[in-house]
Amino acid sequence: MRKEDCLFCKIVAGEIPSTKVYEDERVLAFEDVSPQMPVHTLIVPKDHYDNIGDGVPDEELGYLFNTVRKVADIKGIAESGYRVIVNTNNDAQQSVHHLHVHVLGGAPMNSGDP
Ligand code: 5GP
Repeated sequence: MRKEDCLFCKIVAGEIPSTKVYEDERVLAFEDVSPQMPVHTLIVPKDHYDNIGDGVPDEELGYLFNTVRKVADIKGIAESGYRVIVNTNNDAQQSVHHLHVHVLGGAPMNSGDP
């Protein structure tokens, strides 16, 4: 289900352009518009959830995180390594309130990196 005025719902619908990395019937992966690492891809479920605490079914979460592995393969960082981040609510500075997974990599990271 879609939520009106949600940025990532609009990206899923193709109303706002994005650089697609992977898509199937349930998820969309696209490049972050403001990359914090050489690889910075976002993965979203096509259905709208505000965040990971928004009643997301286990199966949906499993599918989302399985997509992380696909994206890592596509981006060529499966072996070198990557970081997975799911910012949730204010203390984590979640800025887009549609559940999304950041996949970051492509260079060595320190603890202070994203
Ligand atoms: P958050 O801070 O909510 O965890 O992450 C939101 C991410 O969405 C940020 O990394 C930001 O750069 C990215 N972002 C915001 N607006 C857009 C957009 O219009 N297109 C794309 N591709 N990424 C966006």
